[in-house]
Amino acid sequence: MAMTDEIKSGDAAEAGREHIWLPYTQMNTAASPLRAVRTEGCVIELADGRRLIDGVASWWTACHGYNHPDIRAAVERQLAAMPHVMFGGLVHEPALALASRLAAMLPGDLERVFFTDSGSVAVEVAMKMAIQYRLNRGELGRTKLLAFRGGYHGDTLAAMSVCDPEEGMHALFAGALPQQVMADLPTTPERAAALDALLARHAPELAAIIVEPLVQGAGGMRFHDVATLRTLRDLADRHGLLLILDEIFTGFGRTGTMFACEQAGIVPDIVTLSKALTGGTMALAATVARRHVFEAFLSDDPAKALMHGPTFMANPLACAAANASLDLFAREPRLAQVARIEAQLREELEPCRGRPGIADVRVMGAIGVVQLDPAPNLDRLKAALVAEGVWVRPFRDVLYLTPALTIGAEDLGRLTGALRRVIERNA
Ligand code: PLP
Repeated sequence: MAMTDEIKSGDAAEAGREHIWLPYTQMNTAASPLRAVRTEGCVIELADGRRLIDGVASWWTACHGYNHPDIRAAVERQLAAMPHVMFGGLVHEPALALASRLAAMLPGDLERVFFTDSGSVAVEVAMKMAIQYRLNRGELGRTKLLAFRGGYHGDTLAAMSVCDPEEGMHALFAGALPQQVMADLPTTPERAAALDALLARHAPELAAIIVEPLVQGAGGMRFHDVATLRTLRDLADRHGLLLILDEIFTGFGRTGTMFACEQAGIVPDIVTLSKALTGGTMALAATVARRHVFEAFLSDDPAKALMHGPTFMANPLACAAANASLDLFAREPRLAQVARIEAQLREELEPCRGRPGIADVRVMGAIGVVQLDPAPNLDRLKAALVAEGVWVRPFRDVLYLTPALTIGAEDLGRLTGALRRVIERNA
């Protein structure tokens, strides 16, 4: 039975609309969601037969396109052997292989991998590691994080506390979250000096700095640079702080290198990974720590262990998918493909610059951003994009493309063309 028949035949599926609570959606006014039935390459097929070219790779995950046969085969093999087993007291080959491969790929001595099942939880674990690192060393009171305006690190409570406190989507929760120290990214010498002074005042209460390297993603798709990252590494060292890089968006090729931190030549103390880790197929995340962080948890005292262990951590199917995804990165020219995407995005989005209603155009790796001014009517814009045959998810004033790293020039051209046309009509 074809998948479409299966779904059409279910009355339960229709009734399900009354029971589903959608993410980031005002359920009172939002248009009815589209129903996806199949994915292939860069295409999402809808129940009514429409085929949309995906410009965002399902929230930046499907880096090899959808349904890659190698990943599917690896998951099927693992499914036959062991779909899941608890990770407490047991380990398995897919997780061991993945941990050692990530340790080998990441810079420096980032070598201890703690698996979880979502990006937000990987951030929670990074924050918890940083705080417990202090507690285990007897540095009491150093329980806060220094985070940046414009940042986004997830939707769970601690992760929300290090998101942008005002502009971000979690502003409503301001009074309900752990209080952190917020700063502007040190993108200029003046801002670096201001951050230095802020850190001098707050270091005794801080465990770590957390930042998205090179691109602040869901907080507004703002770019910064390698000099900013080097400044952060330097300031963290001078003030005795751990540096957490959240590479959940930027990891696995998105900015042109496997990890964004490689471009700055810095080694963070903790890094978080998710999204494209499994090639966008399964829920998996990792928090990876340097040796000195891990060593702060080694003791005769059981209370100094990391007390964390999600039920589905290191799920074997997800680890098998991630290993197959890393094989693809090793075998296929993904980073060269990113360079080609970057060149095409520049060529085809740059002409928008200076047009009415356009505040900025920026491109980095396989990320193309058109910032609109004034902010558009998002519901109308989204509908116009679907009518153009593309799946693109603008938010606030940002219209962006983050396609699969395997997208062909023709499909990418259809995406940029659709963007240009809807912008033109929106102006
Ligand atoms: N950190 C960053 C940089 C992200 O971009 C995201 C998701 O967009 C997260 C954390 C949260 O990941 P998840 O949605 O898997 O919880």
